[in-house]
Amino acid sequence: MSEEQIIQVAKRIAAGRGSVAFTGAGISVESGIPDFRSAGGLWEKFNPMEYATIEAFLRDPLKVWEMLREMDELIEAARPNPAHLGIARLEQLGLLAGVITQNVDNLHQRAGSRAVIEFHGNGNRLVCLRCKRDIQAAQARLQEESPPRCPDCGAVLKPDVVFFGEPIPTQASAAAMRLVQGTPVMLVVGTSGMAAPASYLPLVAKKTGAMIVEINREHTLLTDGLADISLRGRAGELLPRLVAAVEDALGHA
Ligand code: ZN
Repeated sequence: MSEEQIIQVAKRIAAGRGSVAFTGAGISVESGIPDFRSAGGLWEKFNPMEYATIEAFLRDPLKVWEMLREMDELIEAARPNPAHLGIARLEQLGLLAGVITQNVDNLHQRAGSRAVIEFHGNGNRLVCLRCKRDIQAAQARLQEESPPRCPDCGAVLKPDVVFFGEPIPTQASAAAMRLVQGTPVMLVVGTSGMAAPASYLPLVAKKTGAMIVEINREHTLLTDGLADISLRGRAGELLPRLVAAVEDALGHA
């Protein structure tokens, strides 16, 4: 059953260009980054209202940086898994226009994806809130000082990730919108895709003709709603099978 569905999706991806992947926390769980919302996740230890809102950061950056350093350690230790690699492979085959991710862990880039739209920013970059300068996190990590400060103006640095209470970067949301319009297949991996404001993406894709393919370990709101096909299981297992089927379809084309 599921193999037939994988072949059906693979044929559609192989037939055209411009498919899109949309990823969330679930894809990085197999890389060792627990979903912040799940049991054992970061939000169990750090109340997001106290640690992850922009107000909290501005009020007490030193306290918020405690949580950020733990997040940093998790991300540093993580490696891309076969799901990230499979998505990068589809791009290399010229069949995937890009990946829109809600993750800030940089794992798509590390897997080799080039067209990555970061809906919630990237923990690998820091930004100075005063002079707007971008700084690589690795550089700032070298300074033991906490919280890290801007080498130019001395203001506190903030990771370039979207905190609760901050808007999605307009450039990212505009680029995501362009990418999903008219896409033949949207792979929704490790996310229910239903949290606003990202939830409009599968909707727009569907309305402009996309086949919505959900890859998730769990039943989600998409399963009964927008998804045309739901592949249930680990992304790290399903994505490589899908890529193999795509390569197969190309071979027989
Ligand atoms: Zn500065």
